[in-house]
Amino acid sequence: MSKLVIVGTVAFDAIETPFGKTDKILGGAATFIGLAASQFNVDAAVVSVVGGDFPQEYLDLLSNKNIDISGVEIIKEGKTFFWSGKYHNDMNTRDTLATELNVLADFNPVVPSDYKNAEVVMLGNLHPIVQLGVLEQMETKPKLVILDTMNFWMDCALEELHNVIKKVDVITINDEEARQLTHEYSLVVAARKIHEMGPKYVVIKKGEHGALLFHDDNVFYAPALPLEEVFDPTGAGDTFAGGFAGYLAKTEDVSFENMKNAVIYGSTLASFCVEKFGTERMTDLKSNEVHQRLEQFKSLTQFDIELT
Ligand code: AMP
Repeated sequence: MSKLVIVGTVAFDAIETPFGKTDKILGGAATFIGLAASQFNVDAAVVSVVGGDFPQEYLDLLSNKNIDISGVEIIKEGKTFFWSGKYHNDMNTRDTLATELNVLADFNPVVPSDYKNAEVVMLGNLHPIVQLGVLEQMETKPKLVILDTMNFWMDCALEELHNVIKKVDVITINDEEARQLTHEYSLVVAARKIHEMGPKYVVIKKGEHGALLFHDDNVFYAPALPLEEVFDPTGAGDTFAGGFAGYLAKTEDVSFENMKNAVIYGSTLASFCVEKFGTERMTDLKSNEVHQRLEQFKSLTQFDIELT
C-alpha cells in the first residue's frame, strides 16, 4: 500500500441549499479528500493550516479516521479559512458568497518527514504556490501526482496555477473550470488542450452528469449514480478526488485501466457526500454501504449487447 500526502484547505463552510442553511460547519478540500481516502485504510497525511478558532473535535475527527494531521499547522492568533456558498434550485450550480483566506494567506506548508517519500500526492484545492511548495518538499519522485483546483485560483493566480499544472500526472477539474482554463466549449477539445499543458490524464467532473477520464485518444465515462435525494453538493468534487487518489494509493496501479476503477470509486463516494450537509455523511460512512453502492453502480452501467 502506498503512502498518500494530501494538501488542501481545512475550513469552515456556511452553506445554503434549497433544503436549508448551515452556520459555520466543518469543510475544506483536504477534509473531504481525507475522509474519502480513509475508506481505503491508506497511510494518509493532511498538510494544511487552521486558526485558533478551529475546534479540537474537528481535528480529532480526522485523526480518528487514521489520518495523520501532524502537517496541519495551528496558528493560534489566526482565523481559519472560511467559505460560503449558495446553491441554485438545480443544485448543480452555486454562487460563492464569501472566500476568506485568513491563515491561508501566508501559509508555508511543511510535509511531515515520514511522508516525504509518499508515492501518491494529492494536491487538493488551495493556492497553487502552496501546492507547488508541497511538491518541492518530496524527497523521492512520487509515482503519481494528482491536482485539483477551481475557478477562484484561475481568476487570481493563473500563472502560478499553470506552473503546477505542468508538473502533475492527473488533473481533476469540473466542466466549467475546464472551459475557463482552455477557452474551449467542447470538453474533448478542452481535455486535449489540458494534456498539452502537462497532465497525461485529465478527469472532467460533470456533477450529477458523471465524470470523464481522458488519456491520449482514450476516453472513459462514468455516470453519477441517480439519487433520490441530493441535499448538499458541497465537497462532492473533493470527495471524488479523495476516492480516486485513495483507490490508486491502495492498489498501487496507475494504469489507465485501473484509473477507470478509481473514477468509479470516486463517483461512488461522491454519491454519499451529497446526501447530507457538509461532511456529515462521510464521517459515518460504512464500508458495506460503499460495497452495496458499487454493486448498484455495476448494474446501472453494465449491458450485454451483441454486435454483428
Ligand atoms: P467542492 O464542492 O468539491 O468544490 O468543494 C467545496 C469545498 O472547497 C468547501 O468545503 C470549501 O471549504 C472549499 N473551498 C471553497 N473555495 C475554495 C478555494 N478557493 N480554495 C480552496 N478550497 C476552497
